[in-house]
Amino acid sequence: MLYTHHAGHIIPRFFPRLTWQKPTEEKVIYLTFDDGPVPVVTEFVLEQLHLYDAKATFFCVGDNIVKHPEIFAKILAEGHRIGNHTHNHINGWQHDNEVYYENIIKCDEAITQSLQELNLPFVNLPRLFRPPYGKITPLQVDRLINDYEIVMWTVLSGDFDVELAPSECLEKTIYHTNKGAIIVFHDSVKAEKNLTFALPRYLDFFASRGYRFATL
Ligand SMILES: [Zn+2]
Repeated sequence: MLYTHHAGHIIPRFFPRLTWQKPTEEKVIYLTFDDGPVPVVTEFVLEQLHLYDAKATFFCVGDNIVKHPEIFAKILAEGHRIGNHTHNHINGWQHDNEVYYENIIKCDEAITQSLQELNLPFVNLPRLFRPPYGKITPLQVDRLINDYEIVMWTVLSGDFDVELAPSECLEKTIYHTNKGAIIVFHDSVKAEKNLTFALPRYLDFFASRGYRFATL
């Protein structure tokens, strides 16, 4: 499968306006979970994070928020942060710009409506956006950059890769992690097998070495 686990230094240089890492000397890791909320998998993630008093950022798909409002509420109740991952998980390279922007706004609206129904203040409104598949054009960045911090990653766990062995997923993700790294996991059915193996061990590995896990 064509992806690299570490964003390296080349790609971020072409997209310096996007967030790839949070430079720091502190032992802190920024875990992110894309594509939820969904039953079972998101709930598994929340349980694991809770065990380590870990906070994370969830880049939610608006349509999943509409379908699973109770799980979305649980993410917020446990003190995690949310971000926008479009309403239908669409690819910025394959859609007209206006269609793309509308889909992002639709996700914001799903978030706003859920917050209203949950009687929560709007302080949690996402000012974070992550493009599905990491695909976004410079023109789209121009349009979105004033409204959102556009968050990419330092390390892709590859949990979605069904050909990747769970142990390899874990080892590569640990290997590429450094202070201030932004890590991508997926709370999705597709990633479940690798995620359920790798996440508890990943948390244990870094927690036992004095790292903390924070929201972006
Ligand atoms: Zn995604």
